[in-house]
Amino acid sequence: MIGSEHGIEIAYLVATALFILSLKWMSSPTTARRGVRAGEVGMLLAIIGTLLHRGIVDYTWIAIALVLGSIIGVPLGLVQMTAVPQRTALSHAFGALCVTLVGTAEFTLQAPKVPPFLMTVLAIEVILGSLTFTGSLMAAGKLQEVLPQRPITYRGQNLVNLALLALAFGLAAYLVYDPRQTWLFPAMVVIALAFGVLMIIPIGGADMPTVISLLNSYAGLSAAAMGFVLDSKLLIVAGALDGASGFILSVNMSKAMNRSFTNVLFGAFGQVQAAAAGAQEARSVKSATAEEAASILAAANKVVVVPGYGMAVAQAQHKVRELYDALSRRGVDVKFGIHPVAGRMPGHMNVLLAEADIPYDHLLDMDEINGEFAQTDVALVIGANDVTNPAARNDASSPIYGMPILDVDKARTVMVIKRGMSPGFAGIDNPLYYLDKTLMLFGDARAFVGSIVRELAGGENG
Ligand code: NDP
Repeated sequence: MIGSEHGIEIAYLVATALFILSLKWMSSPTTARRGVRAGEVGMLLAIIGTLLHRGIVDYTWIAIALVLGSIIGVPLGLVQMTAVPQRTALSHAFGALCVTLVGTAEFTLQAPKVPPFLMTVLAIEVILGSLTFTGSLMAAGKLQEVLPQRPITYRGQNLVNLALLALAFGLAAYLVYDPRQTWLFPAMVVIALAFGVLMIIPIGGADMPTVISLLNSYAGLSAAAMGFVLDSKLLIVAGALDGASGFILSVNMSKAMNRSFTNVLFGAFGQVQAAAAGAQEARSVKSATAEEAASILAAANKVVVVPGYGMAVAQAQHKVRELYDALSRRGVDVKFGIHPVAGRMPGHMNVLLAEADIPYDHLLDMDEINGEFAQTDVALVIGANDVTNPAARNDASSPIYGMPILDVDKARTVMVIKRGMSPGFAGIDNPLYYLDKTLMLFGDARAFVGSIVRELAGGENG
């Protein structure tokens, strides 16, 4: 028995170390795959350790839950990469529901004699778990567009929300003082569940990925609180890592959009976008064919490819790799400029381009590539929009003013592949398209890049 207890502790210790290493490795594209593997092995060890727990007297329900969880989990893991933000929100919702149920079960087992420390951590666990559960469902619904994306606001909304949260914590404080008032517990849960919904209503769909990252942080903190309740060091560490990394990520995402964190949470950003989109005026643009684009690219010495959300939607990364190969064979220096919030989740472009085996040393972050645009012959924008919008630099009235962008407009020629003149995620017009040096290449990213590659191959053979 002592041996197996030690075995479980060692499994948990190794799992903890693997979680920490996993986060470290995932911070660089070259070690990211290793990071994912480390996280998977860590989680497997954590599950095995838990299953060996001697408190378990019957495995029937655990087996049923494992089968059900796998039936839900496998299809969730197979969604398109562009749907990963809403998938992640659903994972947080499940995790948070689990935390809330465990907390409720623990309270039911212990009540009415719940020591103050236990009641405190139980309340934190259940409040954060409940609001994360409904908040994440709302976020997933907005991203999947089954719920309206626009922010819904009314006067005094922030005050109402804060009052509700304060009420939930007030009930929690009273429960710590007098745990015999067991009816306060479900009241606290219901208020926290309602707060989760109301917290998300005023936030526009555009800000959901940032909010999901924040909800990730709440889910982590509630899991850490559960660690105290269940006396599990592994849960405390894993929850704290999750809480801290989710928070850092959401702050970094806000910075990359030049938005304050409070503006994301309380700014009702989507309304500004709608107003700005309405102010668009009709102006003319120059367009070109795949043949023309291919000859301009073939004549260039230096090309910087700027991928964005449209490349992800079109799943054009493999064609982009073919283009990279074709141009490199001709001696063209091809690099990729990656904006931190290009696409719909952090690292979106890195993951796609890595999938297509584009060498990591050719993927340059915004800060590294921006100085190079002035010496670039062609900036080829593939399905990116907001992250190249010069209004962020020049137009103080723009909703994205101050957001750091990729300075593609400084290249000698700009070519933009997109299907039409639709705006990007921020819903605003892009003055880049009307510049003299800009050529619009209208079409689906995968089909258009494919045509350019064919034209280049024709040129090589001919
Ligand atoms: P955008 O959303 O600004 O623009 C994408 C463009 O792709 C659209 O204008 C669209 O134009 C085009 N497009 C769509 N489908 C295709 C297709 N099949 N083929 C070719 N083009 C296509 O993308 P960016 O990557 O430039 O910017 C990301 C935006 O998302 C930023 O506003 C960022 O703040 C926001 N965001 C990103 C987060 C992240 O973590 N990455 C998180 C939160 C927000 P058209 O329809 O005309 O083809």
